[in-house]
This record gives sequence, C-alpha cells and structure tokens, in this order.
Amino acid sequence: MRDETKIVHAGRDPQRFEGVVNPPVLHASTVLSRNLVEWEEKRRRYAQGLPGTFYGLMGTAGTRALEDALAELEGGYRAIVFPSGLAACVVPILAFVAAGDHVLLTDSVYGPTRRFANGMLTRLGVEVTYYDPLVGRGIEALMRPNTRVVFVESPGSLTFEVQDVPAIAEVAHRHNAVVIMDNTWGTPLHFRAFEHGVDVSVQAATKYVGGHSDLILGTAAATEKVWPTLMHSTYALGQCAAPDDVYLAQRGLRTMHVRLKRHWETGLALAEWLRKQPEVERILHPALPDDPGHVLWKRDFRGACGLFGVVLKPVSRPALEAFFDGFGLFGIGASWGGYESLVIPVDLTGIRTATKWPYQGPCLRLHAGLEAPEDLIADLDAAFARLRAA
Ligand SMILES: *Cc1c(COP(=O)(O)O)cnc(C)c1O
Repeated sequence: MRDETKIVHAGRDPQRFEGVVNPPVLHASTVLSRNLVEWEEKRRRYAQGLPGTFYGLMGTAGTRALEDALAELEGGYRAIVFPSGLAACVVPILAFVAAGDHVLLTDSVYGPTRRFANGMLTRLGVEVTYYDPLVGRGIEALMRPNTRVVFVESPGSLTFEVQDVPAIAEVAHRHNAVVIMDNTWGTPLHFRAFEHGVDVSVQAATKYVGGHSDLILGTAAATEKVWPTLMHSTYALGQCAAPDDVYLAQRGLRTMHVRLKRHWETGLALAEWLRKQPEVERILHPALPDDPGHVLWKRDFRGACGLFGVVLKPVSRPALEAFFDGFGLFGIGASWGGYESLVIPVDLTGIRTATKWPYQGPCLRLHAGLEAPEDLIADLDAAFARLRAA
C-alpha cells in the first residue's frame, strides 16, 4: 500500500464505534471491568505491554487508534503518545539510562532537549557529550563502554545539517547503545527511521501531524526489542496525553500527506527566491542541490517539509526590525507545521558546543504554510524593501 492510502486508513476501526469514521473522544480515568476475570486479564495485558484499555493514564481507544496509526506509518513495532513533543524526546532518553551512563547528543539537537540533558540528565549522574552532526562513522571515537544512548536529529534544529543516520546507528548498535531520533522534520512519510537503524523514532506531533497550530502532542515509535522499556518508563513517569489533543492529532494526520507535499513545494519556491536576494548569505535547506546535506538527503529521505533556514549578511538592528515589523502573511511565532507561514529570528551564538557556527549575520527560520507561494514571495519582497530602506 502506498503512503497516501496508508495514512487514510491506518489505525482506524469504524465498526468498533458504530461506524463512526473518526475514533471518538473518550474522557476517562476509570475503566470498568465486568468481572474479576476481566479485571485480571486487563492487568495482565497491561503488565505485558499489550494493547488494551485498563486505566485512563494509559489512554483509551482513541489513543490506541493514533498510536497504531503512527506505529504503522513509522514502520515500528508499536508507538506511544506523550503530552508534548519535548516529553517524547526526553522520556525515551530517561528510559534507557542510569547514573554513571553516558549519552551522545547531536550538537544540532532541539534546544529544550539540550537543556534537559545539560540540566536534569547531568544532575542525575548521566554524562552528556555533544557531537558534530556530520560525524558519521567518526562517532566510533566518541563511544565509551557506558554509552547507552545516541541521540540523532536530522536535519538538525535551526541549522538543518543532514546526519548519516545508518552509519551512526551501525556503530551505536555494535556498542549496545540505543539510537533515538527526533524525526519531526522528516515525519514518518519522508524519513523511514527504522529502515535506517533507529530504535525509537520521535515526532513532535504538535507540528505536521497536528498541522493546525492548535495542539501540543508527541509520539514515539519503537522496535519490539526496546518497546517494553520505553512503555513502562513512560507510564512510570505519568505521561498521559489529553483525549482531545489525541483526537485532533489523528484528525490532522489524515491530510498530512497532501499538506506536506504543498509545504515542501512552497518551501522550495521561497528558498529559490530568497537565495537570489543580495542580503542573503546562505539558505539552509537540504533539498537544494548545492546544500552540503543534499547527497545524504537524497539517499535517505523521500521528501522535505516547509521548514528551512536563511542566513543573512550582517545588517543593522533598525534594518532587521524593519524587516520583521510589517509582514502581512508571515506570523512571528514559535512552533511550525501549521497551515500558516511563520518567520522567526534565531540566535545561534552559544548554542553549539561541538561545532562552530561560521556566520556573523542574523539567521531566520521560515515555515512555508499553505498560502499561495506568489503571495508569500510578495510578503517577503516587501520585507526586503523595508530592510533596504531602513
Ligand atoms: C517543536 C519541537 C519539539 C517539541 O515539541 P513540543 O510539542 O513543542 O514540545 C521537539 N523537536 C523538534 C525538532 C521540534 O521542532
């Protein structure tokens, strides 16, 4: 079955809900059993990590539907939902480490994941090392006997470096480490994490799965080998996603294929236009043929999304303010993956420790929404006119 077919049908079982197309929103803490045997059976299934509804913390039929859909699309054994994308990044790390262990994180990791590692993980006695996202097989030199987790994120947050995930995973597995990937940019459609050696594939479902800027949710799909550890740690930490957000995510998921295609095309159109502006130093977008990550992107990815970076040549503060203050369509706001276009300034000074950011000028992060590319380009054109006039 092709992806566009799978995404429509994965995880759905309308007959379970009197033919209703979308799994209903079930608000639940208590889930009653009819008799002692059923109660014991439910407890046994839960203890073994088997699907079922036992207590609201572990979700209900709606939660299972979304988890099943994500597991199928990602190509993992099973998936679990989290109340945020950040929780879906950090709980899996916690699941596999103990005091005295060592974890390797890409220097391009999502900022809040980095804060968790530097703060809580370090406080719990876990050593953290950041590595160059372009390390590839060179990760071998950084592996220690106590390295339990290798965390990858490709393309990297803000800087969009593409990692050689299969090479890193091969080394990690030889050293008995678990490979966790933040796969939000690639989505299950454009990066097949498990075919590239990943053990846990994380989505900030807040982004493209939700797709409408109105929910916070995370998911993690896992191989059968690591699933029990991931699942039990998740519930031990009391992670539970709200049923309304789970509902919205599964609703958003059904159109992700068509939305992504449009985000990808529009993002590339904007990138092509932007690279011709004299104030632009560089575009950070691995789908552009001259991007340093393009070869790996072409080898491993099936597509792009609408998120990319722009490095500007140094400009004055008033010019930058003029650029930002006056957009008609682009919103200035965090997060991405919704239907509307966004632009934010990103400051890379001091947030990389294993690598050096070589540019002096300001950096932008753009999210290409579903608007007409021509209208978005006109909005950007006006911004550059304001910048030049300032
Ligand atoms: C947004 C984001 C997250 C976190 O998701 P939230 O739902 O906002 O907690 C994690 N990783 C990446 C790459 C993100 O962009």
